[in-house]
Amino acid sequence: MKMEMCKHQLKCDFYGCKNMAKYSFSTKGFIRKDLVFCDDCMKKMFECFSKTMVPKPIEAPFKGRKKKERV
Ligand SMILES: [Zn+2]
Repeated sequence: MKMEMCKHQLKCDFYGCKNMAKYSFSTKGFIRKDLVFCDDCMKKMFECFSKTMVPKPIEAPFKGRKKKERV
């Protein structure tokens, strides 16, 4: 997959968006034509991604291990 700046005067592919596309995303087969989208939709997509891919909290390697103290 490859993303590049949109060289053509195309309207953003996102539904309900009337902006001009700034980026084009080559899907190479998923859909016939490249997906083009604007700055706004790019940001929205990133928001979606970050919500979907919530980074897992890093577990402390020593969590749960009880300290045994010698008496
Ligand atoms: Zn858009």
